[in-house]
Amino acid sequence: MGSHAVTAASRATAPSIGLGDIERARDRIAGRVRATPLLRSESLSAETGGAVHLKLEQLQITGSFKLRGATNAILKLSDGERGRGVVGVSTGNHGRGLAHAAKEAGVRCIICMSTLVPQNKVQGIEALGAEVRIVGDSQDDAQVEVDRLVAEEGMVMLPPFDHPDIIAGQGTLGLEILEALPAVETILVPLSGGGLIAGLALAAKALKPAVRVVGVSMERGAAMYACIKAGKPVMVPELPTLADSLGGGIGLDNRHTFALVSQLVDDILLVSEAEIAQAIRHAYWQEKQVIEGSGSVGIAALLAGKLHSPGITAVLVSGCNIDMSLHHRIVSGEDVDVTAP
Ligand SMILES: *Cc1c(COP(=O)(O)O)cnc(C)c1O
Repeated sequence: MGSHAVTAASRATAPSIGLGDIERARDRIAGRVRATPLLRSESLSAETGGAVHLKLEQLQITGSFKLRGATNAILKLSDGERGRGVVGVSTGNHGRGLAHAAKEAGVRCIICMSTLVPQNKVQGIEALGAEVRIVGDSQDDAQVEVDRLVAEEGMVMLPPFDHPDIIAGQGTLGLEILEALPAVETILVPLSGGGLIAGLALAAKALKPAVRVVGVSMERGAAMYACIKAGKPVMVPELPTLADSLGGGIGLDNRHTFALVSQLVDDILLVSEAEIAQAIRHAYWQEKQVIEGSGSVGIAALLAGKLHSPGITAVLVSGCNIDMSLHHRIVSGEDVDVTAP
């Protein structure tokens, strides 16, 4: 294990989600989400000496896997909850997934955001069929409005990762990978709040206990990595990064993902901004794929040689929602620095 790795401590917490929940999630969301392809990458296989396969989940409807969890959670609502609708604060991939899943299920969806959110993000969420409510000038103000809608109107708040139905929905990726590539030895997974890796690792290890599941985060603001090292959820400052969908904390009151990541994840690797940019370029020029920074961290770790003896590896490519002018600058070879003030 390298200097950028931590070993997950084993914790004696009863798992709140099992393989059965993930299998039922797959049946529930079938036909509403895409089963995305898993393709062998000749360039990454040659580059690393392993047999590298890419799970192209950036081709998912709404551009990321977040649709899986959101769809599963919305389809599990009771009739009363469906009638009252769902709320969220995310303007990123979770908000997009939630908005689309709610519209498809005929459920009202309100996304609360502050005046700081750029107009194109507001329009993006509205175009997916959600109501946008602009409140105050911080994320906290938006959260106050969410809490009010939950308390006074009985709407259901669906969080981006720390929820059993969200985790089970993301876990359907583990089933798809193991079915497409039963010989897989290692799975590389972008890691932020941990809903994705928790569900995926639960499914993958239930089907094949020996499979190694490795999280990848950016060096700048790797919240779960810091929490695992500390042995408990801690506050981690959010920093600008090309992997913007991986920003934010895991919640000091984390209920599910911290314990699951502690139990199930074999290792966490960190990648630099330059390594992320290089992975975006590689994906574009070698694989002909447009991927966002957060979606590219697994490729970044491989190209940087951070995974020792890759063997038969599946890399989850998690999303494609990147500003296309930024993408253009990166793939044109410009030395883009989003961390500069
Ligand atoms: C949300 C997200 C992640 C991380 O998922 P978690 O469940 O928070 O760990 C990774 N990649 C993309 C593109 C995302 O939107």
